[in-house]
Amino acid sequence: MPNLFKVAKFGGTSMADAAAMRRCAAIVLSDPDKKIIVVSATAGTTNLLTELVSDSSTDQRVAIAEQIRDKHLAICNDLEEPENIQEKVEELLDELKAIASRKQIMTGMLRDEIFSFGERLSSTIFAQVLREESGSEVIWLDARNVIVTDSNFGSAEPLPEQIAFKSDEFVQPKLNSGRIVTQGFIGSNRQGVTTTLGRGGSDYSAALFAEAADADVLEIWTDVTAIYTTDPRIVPGAKPITEISFDEAAELSVFGAKVLHPATMIPAIRKNIKVYVGSSMKPDEPGTWIVKETKNNPVIRAISLRRNQTLLTVRSLEMLHQYGFLAKLFSVLSEHKISVDLVTTSEVSVALTLDSDINTPGKQKLTDEVLEKLRSFCEVEIDRNLSLIALIGNNLDATAGLSGPVFGALEDVNVRLICHGASSHNLCFLVSENESEEVVNILHNKFIKE
Ligand code: ADP
Ligand code: ASP
Ligand code: MG
Repeated sequence: MPNLFKVAKFGGTSMADAAAMRRCAAIVLSDPDKKIIVVSATAGTTNLLTELVSDSSTDQRVAIAEQIRDKHLAICNDLEEPENIQEKVEELLDELKAIASRKQIMTGMLRDEIFSFGERLSSTIFAQVLREESGSEVIWLDARNVIVTDSNFGSAEPLPEQIAFKSDEFVQPKLNSGRIVTQGFIGSNRQGVTTTLGRGGSDYSAALFAEAADADVLEIWTDVTAIYTTDPRIVPGAKPITEISFDEAAELSVFGAKVLHPATMIPAIRKNIKVYVGSSMKPDEPGTWIVKETKNNPVIRAISLRRNQTLLTVRSLEMLHQYGFLAKLFSVLSEHKISVDLVTTSEVSVALTLDSDINTPGKQKLTDEVLEKLRSFCEVEIDRNLSLIALIGNNLDATAGLSGPVFGALEDVNVRLICHGASSHNLCFLVSENESEEVVNILHNKFIKE
């Protein structure tokens, strides 16, 4: 059988310190097929950079840059031959500090430039760890030469055709010379200006690299041994899933399971690339295979929770026996780049859900301007602090008698909006944020726990 070609991605906790990096290096070296390695920033660094970009005082920004310096130099100190990368790491740290000390307006473009230091630092250090552990050639690749995106700073959209073209130029010729270590999360627009794919975007980057380089397998090494039936932090009794389909995994991530960035499955589905999820701390424990078709297809396989949801309800008598109202509503939302997730309509009202991620740069919010435009033709009501819960599985739209037991189990809970039937892979609804974890526990106990 010909060798497979694998892309392996290691997340932030897997890059936490030199010991964690060595564990990841051992995983890479256990398999000659792992040729492209995509890494996240070291644990907590993107959070620190987020603080840095939101802090207005220069002193505070510099203090955070110093904290990042100490943290990375400490990891370098634990290497066998830090001198190989010391200069490059110091240069990156100096550059970050220089940017932090400058008085300037924090634009989306500047934020992404600052975010990029996290992954540029971790990948430089990890490449050295891999060199030390393997004694062979390791190539550091700047992901910004390959991951071409639009200019939507903060949550840039990758351009797959351009990426394939750049991969042929920058990745393919190097594949025979050694393993490639590169960064997740970051890219650049067509003008070469740094962009980012949004928080948690390294999974998506790895899938894009796998797609462009024609990989057979994408491996996501993280801090849980597998994809679980629900977030094990919420339900400690959640069970690892051995196999899940592309469609289910896509829905699970879109509906909030942080274990995969919501867009990860898009390139994998386009190119039919199998995805494996495993733990870099316990690599021998069985992980999850995400494949096109699974052997068993339960009606409810998993439950996901997406926090920070806003419910927007608009009412207008204009809707009665008239046409054009929905078009008008959605044109206002699209004009302001507001992305709508769920929609339900009645004769005179429409309810929509939106992410209330007001702190994420690049994501639009319900500004006064938007509300004013909407209020010029309808009544508007806004409810915040909600969570979206989704049951993920198969044939949910065609399974008789499902909603009775689901909502029966939640009779004391105020369920705000239900979407059932639009997809065969999910049934989802809104509940208030403070009841959401309890609801996940109730449903997990009733439908998944054996
Ligand atoms: P990384 O830094 O490796 O990308 P993340 O923190 O982004 O890791 O994702 C892993 C986390 O995802 C886990 O620690 C877990 O709390 C969370 N998670 C949410 N839903 C699930 C799920 N269904 N299965 C496994 N982990 C989940
Ligand atoms: N470092 C980025 C983040 O923390 C990307 C990632 O880890 O996937 O969001
Ligand atoms: Mg992640």
